[in-house]
Amino acid sequence: MNIAFFGVGHMGGPMVANLVKAGHSVVAFDLVPALLEEAVEHGATAGASPAETVSGAQVVISMLPSGRAVQGLYLGETGILAAIDAAALIIDCSTIDAATAKAVAAEAHASGRSMIDAPVSGGVGGAMAGTLTFICGGENSAVERARPILECMGKNIFHAGNSGAGQTAKICNNMLLAIHMLGTCEALQLGVDNGLDPKVLSDIMLASSGRNWSLELYNPWPGVMENVPASKGYEGGFAVNLMNKDLTLAMDTALQSASRTPMGSLAKSLYGVHGSQGDGGLDFSSIQTLFSGKTE
Ligand code: NAD
Repeated sequence: MNIAFFGVGHMGGPMVANLVKAGHSVVAFDLVPALLEEAVEHGATAGASPAETVSGAQVVISMLPSGRAVQGLYLGETGILAAIDAAALIIDCSTIDAATAKAVAAEAHASGRSMIDAPVSGGVGGAMAGTLTFICGGENSAVERARPILECMGKNIFHAGNSGAGQTAKICNNMLLAIHMLGTCEALQLGVDNGLDPKVLSDIMLASSGRNWSLELYNPWPGVMENVPASKGYEGGFAVNLMNKDLTLAMDTALQSASRTPMGSLAKSLYGVHGSQGDGGLDFSSIQTLFSGKTE
């Protein structure tokens, strides 16, 4: 397939490499020339301009930082929508607000083009390993068309519902992730402050009703688990800044639907404080240090 790919940053770069590995012909475009050069090293061709990038593309994929970037790429006077072949499929993998996802998809549909939202879970490690989870929103036929392409970059492909539903499901998941990480940190701190060994306490909670993903696969206490960010100075992984972005999207969504999200709101405040203390680039499990007051 001829694929146009916009945004070859932390996630998009390895996703392009996996598409090339699977035998697709990828033309990539990014605002940062150095990132585009890296994509070329992985076998992509550099697009000279957004319009040239989509020329002849059967599939257009975007992996951008924000709703504003997605809207700017596709719509308006400089938008690429009109330059995309009417038979092409558009897949936006960026994590953005559901309202923008729906609005851009509606314009695509109005012009006769198919578009789905397909935000991902799995982080940079998942993007490199080709094991991402794609959470899709859009028409069933478009999601089925996208499936073989997404399978080159991920191992789980879910269809959450109509346009924007992928975005909504993704932020529900990440709000829950923020909350159970905070609960895990709080419980570990309480135990340690009262003389317990964090590893022993973790083992006890893992075999008891406190068991959860953060405890099982991503223990936030340094040294308890090997090969997790907590044991590497909280480097790598999923940045506090990105968690803050997702919690902001979750709270904006809750406001629109008048949903009661007191736990999400508290999580947003705590991660906001943590990020504003200069720790925004660290992995999100570093929120443990907000409870301990220590960085190591
Ligand atoms: P990133 O900042 O590393 O990459 C985004 C890239 O998009 C940048 O290289 C930027 O130059 C480029 N860009 C911006 N506007 C553009 C345009 N108009 N045309 C072409 N390129 C443009 O971000 P990332 O970490 O790769 O994240 C991308 C998306 O994936 C975000 O929406 C993020 O929330 C989501 N996400 C990230 C992770 C993660 O762990 N990094 C995990 C899941 C989801």
